[in-house]
Amino acid sequence: MDEVNDRDQPQKWKVIIVGAGPAGIATGLTLNSLGISNCIIESHTSPPFKFGEALPPNAKPILHQLGIEKLIRDPRHLNYFGNKSCWGNENWEQKEFITSIHGHGYLLDRFYFEKQLWETYVKTGGNLLYGSRFQQVEQVNTLHKVSIRSTREEVDIFSDMMVDATGRKALVARMLGAEKYNLDSQFGFSFTIPVEIPLAKQVCIESVETGWWYVSPVRENELSVMFFTTKEMIPPNHQFTSFLLTQFNKTLHLKKIIQIDEVRHAIVRIKPSGTSRLNCPYGTNWLAVGDAAINYDPISSFGITSALASGYYAGQAISSHFEGRKEAFYAYRYVLENGFMAYLKKLQFQYNSEKRWEHNDYWKVRQQEIRSIFENNEV
Ligand SMILES: Cc1cc2nc3c(=O)[nH]c(=O)nc-3n(C[C@H](O)[C@H](O)[C@H](O)COP(=O)(O)OP(=O)(O)OC[C@H]3O[C@@H](n4cnc5c(N)ncnc54)[C@H](O)[C@@H]3O)c2cc1C
Repeated sequence: MDEVNDRDQPQKWKVIIVGAGPAGIATGLTLNSLGISNCIIESHTSPPFKFGEALPPNAKPILHQLGIEKLIRDPRHLNYFGNKSCWGNENWEQKEFITSIHGHGYLLDRFYFEKQLWETYVKTGGNLLYGSRFQQVEQVNTLHKVSIRSTREEVDIFSDMMVDATGRKALVARMLGAEKYNLDSQFGFSFTIPVEIPLAKQVCIESVETGWWYVSPVRENELSVMFFTTKEMIPPNHQFTSFLLTQFNKTLHLKKIIQIDEVRHAIVRIKPSGTSRLNCPYGTNWLAVGDAAINYDPISSFGITSALASGYYAGQAISSHFEGRKEAFYAYRYVLENGFMAYLKKLQFQYNSEKRWEHNDYWKVRQQEIRSIFENNEV
C-alpha cells in the first residue's frame, strides 16, 4: 500500500476511486481484472469502524464473480444458518436458510473483512492511497483534477474518470452536481456486548412499538446489538443508556435470551439508517457506487452485497464506456434501478406487515414514509 506523498507515484490514472469500502474495492478489483489503471483514495490509514455484519446467502454469486469468495471462508467470519424473528405478531419464528439455493450466510468480522478487501486489492495490482482525504474535484479540459490531503501535504492527481465510493455522504457526486435525497428518517443505535454463553449463529429481529431490535453474534463471546427508530425518538446523549434499556425491556423474546445491561459500559454509536439515493448515479465521466448511490434500510441486509455488486457493474460499465459504448452508464443506472425497485417492494411488505402499533408514532411515520418512497419512485 502506498502513501500519497510517495514521489514515485504516477499523477495520472484512468480512474480515481474515492473510498475503500466494499463498493470502492469491488470497483478497483474489477478494473484491475480488466487492465484499467486505477487508484483508490482512502482517508483512513486502516479500515474504520463500520456498522453491520450480516451477509445473507445471496451474496455468494457476487463474491464469486469478484473472485473473493475464499475471503469469507476464513474462520474469523461465522457461518449463520437462519433468522429468528418476532414481527407482526407475538410468535418467535425461525426461518432456516436450508431452503436457500445458496446455503448459509455469514456474520462478518467487519474490520477483518475490510482489511482482507484492502489486501486483495493491493495483491491484484491496485494502488491504495490510504491516509489521503479527498478534498475537491474540478474539471480541467477533459480530465478531473483531484485534490487530496495527507498528513504531510496536499497534492493534485488527475484522471479520465471518477468513482464516488465515499458512502452515504456521496461527497464526489454532490461536488459534481448530483443531489442526494434522504427518503426517510430512520436512525440506528449500535453497540456490542460480551456474553458468557454463546448465542446460536443466527440473526434475531424483534419489533416493538417504538422501532425494532437486531441482535447477532460477531464472535463466540460477543454480540452486535442495534436498535432502529425514527429521528424524533432519539433522546439527548446522556439518556442513551436508559432509553435503550427501556426499549429493550419492551421485547417479548429477546429479553429472555440476553441481557443488555452491559450497554452501560459500551460505546453506543448512532447513524442515519434509512433509504437514501442520488437523483442519478452517474454524470459526465463519473459514477457513484454502493452507499454513495443508494442506501438500503438495514432490515434488508442488502448494503454490503449491493455495494460489492454495484462496484462490479460500475467497473464493467467504465470499461464499456472507454470502448466507446455510449449506453454503458445508462445500462449501469438501469441495473441499479431494478435492484432498488425490488428492494422497495420488499420494504413495503415488511413494514406493512407490522399492524400491532400502526397508530403509534414510529410505525405510523415509518409506514407513511415508505408509502411515499414507493409512490415517488415507482417506474
Ligand atoms: C446501522 C447499520 C447497520 C447495517 N447493517 C448491515 C448489515 O447487517 N448487512 C449489510 O449488508 N449492510 C449493513 N449496513 C450497510 C453497510 O454497512 C453499507 O451498505 C456498506 O458499508 C456500504 O459500503 P460502501 O463501500 O458503499 O461505503 P462505506 O463502507 O461507508 O465506505 C466508504 C469509504 O469512503 C471513505 N471516505 C469517505 N470520505 C472520504 C474522503 N473525503 N476521502 C477519502 N475517503 C473517504 C470512508 O473512510 C470509507 O472507508 C448497515 C448500515 C447501518 C448504518
